[in-house]
Amino acid sequence: MCTGRVDFTHILRSFADGCDGVFVGGCHLGECNYITNGNYHAQNMVALTKKLLERIGLNPERLRMAFMSGAEANLYTEHVNSFVKKIKELGPLGVMEGIGKEDLDARLAELIRQVPYIKIMTNEKLAKQLTNHEDVEKLFTTEDVEKLFSEKISYYIDPEKCQACMTCARRCPMDAIISAKKEVHIIEQDKCIRCGACFAACPPQFSAIVKLVGQPAPPPLPEGQRAVVKKSKEATA
Ligand code: SF4
Ligand code: SF4
Repeated sequence: MCTGRVDFTHILRSFADGCDGVFVGGCHLGECNYITNGNYHAQNMVALTKKLLERIGLNPERLRMAFMSGAEANLYTEHVNSFVKKIKELGPLGVMEGIGKEDLDARLAELIRQVPYIKIMTNEKLAKQLTNHEDVEKLFTTEDVEKLFSEKISYYIDPEKCQACMTCARRCPMDAIISAKKEVHIIEQDKCIRCGACFAACPPQFSAIVKLVGQPAPPPLPEGQRAVVKKSKEATA
C-alpha cells in the first residue's frame, strides 16, 4: 500500500526474475497517508538503485518512479505508457547492455547479497526528505557508489585476542558467527551483513574484533586449531 515498503531487494529480484523494467508508482510527496512519509524514502531508494544498476552495467532507465494520487488515473496511464514505450526501446534486459544471461544473473545475485550492507551504509541519506528533484539526483553520485564498494567494510575476529566470551555471537542478527565454548569465534563472511553489532559488543578488555576498510578479512583459523589461550594462563606461562 505504500512505496515506503518497496525495498531494493524487490526491485533487484524483479530484474533477476527477468523483468525488463520496473516502475514504482507513489503518492505525491507531502501527501503520504502515513506518518512515515515513505514515498520520500522510496524516492531516495530508487535514486540509489539506479546508480547500483549502472554500476553492474544495466541501463538505469529500466527503473522509474513517478508520483500520482489515487484519483489521477490519467496521469498513471500516461506514466505507464511512457515507461512501457521506453522499455520497448531498450529491449530485453541485458541484451542492449551486452551482458550474457549467466553474467547478468551473477551480477544481480551479488548485488542482492550486498543489500543489507548497502542499507546500513546509506541509512542516513535514505531518510532525507527531499522535495527538489535536482537534490534527489545529486544525493548519490557515481563516486559515492564506487566508494561504497571500494572502501567496503568487513569485520574479523583476531584469534590472538578472542576469549570466547560469546557476547558477539549472541548479538549477531544473522547468526554469522561460529561460536563454540573455549574456541576462538569466527565470522562467516558470506553470512555477515556488516552491521557492526559484534564490533560494538566485544568487551573492551578483549577488543578482539577488527574493522577492516577496503580489504578482505584474513582466512579463518582451520577447525581443530581454534582453542582459546586464556589471557591469564598466557601471562603465567
Ligand atoms: S558485522 Fe558482526 S554482528 Fe553484524 S552480521 Fe556481521 S558478524 Fe554479525
Ligand atoms: S565478543 Fe570478542 S572476545 Fe567475546 S567471543 Fe566475540 S570476539 Fe571473542
